Amino acid sequence: MSAPPVREVNRQAIAVMGACADGSDLTILDVSDEYTRFWGGERDQWLGASPRIVGCDIENRKLLRKLCRALAKGELGDGYSLSGLDKSSWPLSANQPPMLIEWRVTAMTMPGYVERVLVLVQRDISKRVEKEAELERLATTDMLTGLYNRVRFDRLLKTELRRRHRYVRPFSLIMLDIDFFKAINDSHGHDVGDQVLAKLGQLLTQNLRKVDVCARWGGEEFMILAPETSLEQAVQLAEKIRCCVRQTRFSEAGQVTISLGVVEARLNESQKSVMKRVDDALYIAKEQGRDRVSY
Ligand code: GH3
Ligand code: MG
Ligand code: MG
Repeated sequence: MSAPPVREVNRQAIAVMGACADGSDLTILDVSDEYTRFWGGERDQWLGASPRIVGCDIENRKLLRKLCRALAKGELGDGYSLSGLDKSSWPLSANQPPMLIEWRVTAMTMPGYVERVLVLVQRDISKRVEKEAELERLATTDMLTGLYNRVRFDRLLKTELRRRHRYVRPFSLIMLDIDFFKAINDSHGHDVGDQVLAKLGQLLTQNLRKVDVCARWGGEEFMILAPETSLEQAVQLAEKIRCCVRQTRFSEAGQVTISLGVVEARLNESQKSVMKRVDDALYIAKEQGRDRVSY
């Protein structure tokens, strides 16, 4: 058995296609080496065969029919082009990650060919898209705790508010802040302070459902967005988190407590208003002596 084709990034696969003699189908007139790497087989096997524009057979047949009909009717002038993005995985590769193929078919007259031909150019952009996704992840993740950062949280809150208004679904927000965190930094050093933040991030994640969103809001403040959660349920959750934190030993820092503010978003409430209310609730928890939940 031959080795699976090597996939190379950002190289272009090219196929020259023309209508077959009776004009009923498109066939391959020539392919580049890269095309055989994308789709397997040898160049000789592809000559005269049916072209592969996208991975999905049904979609591929549709495209071929459309192009062939237009070419046969003389509708495709020089420069005509059709392009798309093929998200279907490569059907020949069971053991390879799916390709994400950007493709373009352009009509042109080419030396060596009597009739006008269609040139197919394909590029596997999966690596580029992966890189972009990774950059996006880095830009929206807090490095110390691994939680979402404020930017990401802000976006999610906007989405949840839209859902709240449109589908009248409840959701609640919990804002929490470490008590006397400055003292932890002052007595044990900034590194120990950082460890407390990271550990608190873990505790929060462990105590939340998968659908809840937890973000580091800034410094030693965190935000939790709990979808489909009433005020009463969110207060219970906040209490659970508060108890869990005060019962945890934070290595050198020992016992740590947090204060929490809880609100349920009101129908048609603005982001600014719900954020102000949760901030106010947290402020009251601090005012009333810390290590407590206020709502
Ligand atoms: P309170 O109970 O009123 O919240 O008091 P506090 O001391 O926690 O609040 P304050 O706002 O006075 O201090 C917050 C401290 O958090 C000050 C700042 O240096 C520290 N801090 C902010 N970000 C970080 C960080 O990433 N790492 C560490 N170690 N400390 C941080
Ligand atoms: Mg604090
Ligand atoms: Mg603070």
